[in-house]
Amino acid sequence: MSDEITPLGSKAGEPGSRPDAGTRREFLIAGAAMATVAAAGAAGAADEPKGHTARDASNPGPDNSGLTALSQHSFSPPRTDHGDVPSFWASFATAHRRIQPGGWTRQVNVRDFPMSKEIAGVNMRLTAGGVRELHWHVASEWALMLSGTARLTALDEEGRGYVNEVAAGDLWYFPGGIPHSIQGLGPDGCEFLLVFDDGDFSEFNTTQLTDWTSHTPKDVLAKNWGVPEAALAGMPKEELYIFQAEEPGPLAAARAAVAGSRGPSQVAFDFKLSTMPPTKATAGGEVRVIDTENFPVADSVAAALVTVRPGGMRELHWHPNSDEWQYYVRGQGRMTLFMNGGNARTMDFRAGDVGYAPQSMGHYVENTGDTDLVFVETFKTDRYRELTLSDWVTHTPPELMLRHLGISRETLAKIPADKPDVVPR
Ligand code: MN
Ligand code: MN
Repeated sequence: MSDEITPLGSKAGEPGSRPDAGTRREFLIAGAAMATVAAAGAAGAADEPKGHTARDASNPGPDNSGLTALSQHSFSPPRTDHGDVPSFWASFATAHRRIQPGGWTRQVNVRDFPMSKEIAGVNMRLTAGGVRELHWHVASEWALMLSGTARLTALDEEGRGYVNEVAAGDLWYFPGGIPHSIQGLGPDGCEFLLVFDDGDFSEFNTTQLTDWTSHTPKDVLAKNWGVPEAALAGMPKEELYIFQAEEPGPLAAARAAVAGSRGPSQVAFDFKLSTMPPTKATAGGEVRVIDTENFPVADSVAAALVTVRPGGMRELHWHPNSDEWQYYVRGQGRMTLFMNGGNARTMDFRAGDVGYAPQSMGHYVENTGDTDLVFVETFKTDRYRELTLSDWVTHTPPELMLRHLGISRETLAKIPADKPDVVPR
């Protein structure tokens, strides 16, 4: 099955080339101080801090030029940015990858990303046949398939077996304590994002089948299962975690095998986001909202998949009921976070990066590239909630609003009153 499935978009249209940071190093090495000044002002006059000149912003000392180029709005902030806002950017690109036969994993949690107290993320790849070992965890797991196809298994709260398959663009959700496994399918396995409703979650500290059995005496296991102890001699002596296996047989056969006398699970642990129409679509982009309204099992993680067209913007808004943890799927953008008390900061994001906006803190996301920007917003809540600046302005008595904003009645009348979510260029 193709992994180029809407609404995640096509891999073909990655963002174009970026300003060459290496050029700046060459100028520095040549000792051409004025060239440094010119490069520092490359973000354009509109982003230049008020009252600052290019000379004020020059940077003749040592510099990690590659990282600076990727962080251009930290290096040359918009003039409205101000104050002491902690980083709300992290990236899987800088996370340690644990690689084993069958695939790999990496994670971003609160230990590397201090702002992300409510949610942690994991990025995992499984080969065709590669298995993420049977396990569970206290935290609940929300997942977005990024490529390929996978076979899922679980045991629901009534002890009924669940087996199903998901493709790129689909979701799954396993509540805390529900045991499950994931296996990559042909031809090229899968890659997916996992989101956990606990910033302190670690993928390397889950309850795994073989970790538990290898730390339980064989005679206890033998008594527990009513089998001879000698029959257990070949069991693994430590956890498997990720391992290479054969690709599974037909789905129908697997479902029949787990049904037993109780029948198959009636719980829909997966969700076909790949075929869901947008919750809202405008000239600026699309938003798809997934929460317990349409995905009932996901009682602790709500989400919105957002597409912003080139030049478009996810409008100024906030979420009154939860922190927001973001994963950038495609394209490039910048988010500005307003943290009250005059504090605002802008940071840059690309595919594979993670962003964060604390509960009720205002923010907006602009597409800074020439292809669609696609990112997913996740929240530790059962219901997606957002309030927007334009709704606030248009659903307050006009006289009161005009007295605040110093704009004309005609201008106020042009502001959208229907929460577009994504606005065009
Ligand atoms: Mn899991
Ligand atoms: Mn948001």
